[in-house]
Amino acid sequence: MIKENSVVTMHYELKDSEGEVLDSSKGQDPLVYLHGAGNIIVGLEEQLIGKTVGDNVAAIVSPEKGYGMPVDALVQIVPKEAFGEEIDKVEVGMKFQAETEQGPVPVVVTAMDETMVTVDGNHPLAGKELHFEVSIAEIREASAEEIEHGHVHGEGGHQH
Ligand code: ZN
Repeated sequence: MIKENSVVTMHYELKDSEGEVLDSSKGQDPLVYLHGAGNIIVGLEEQLIGKTVGDNVAAIVSPEKGYGMPVDALVQIVPKEAFGEEIDKVEVGMKFQAETEQGPVPVVVTAMDETMVTVDGNHPLAGKELHFEVSIAEIREASAEEIEHGHVHGEGGHQH
């Protein structure tokens, strides 16, 4: 059963509350994570405790236990001149790394007018209720080294 320091291999599909698929491991390698180490969002971890191999879990995670609520401070309105010649390439929906005092932050352009560009540094899933469908493929005990590092080693994990 899944508990603290389990290494869990699982397939998952993530949808929003309208049923749109946001992310999925289908057709890809399964996700491998170390339970209790913050490798996946806390709201999903909580609902996987006690599950076992072969279980299918439907888990609904609130924004508070998912990617948080959007923060106004991460939305910035910037004059177009700030982009220099690059402004010709800027369009709504474009993603790029913004240089900030805290280092590069991934942002998305959410609006533009004649003079200004609105960029949003919130996580794309902030404010969303997350609907997971998870199937548990494998569970094993973590090694002492994995627990110390806070992540999984070997297949699907860190190779070092
Ligand atoms: Zn490691």
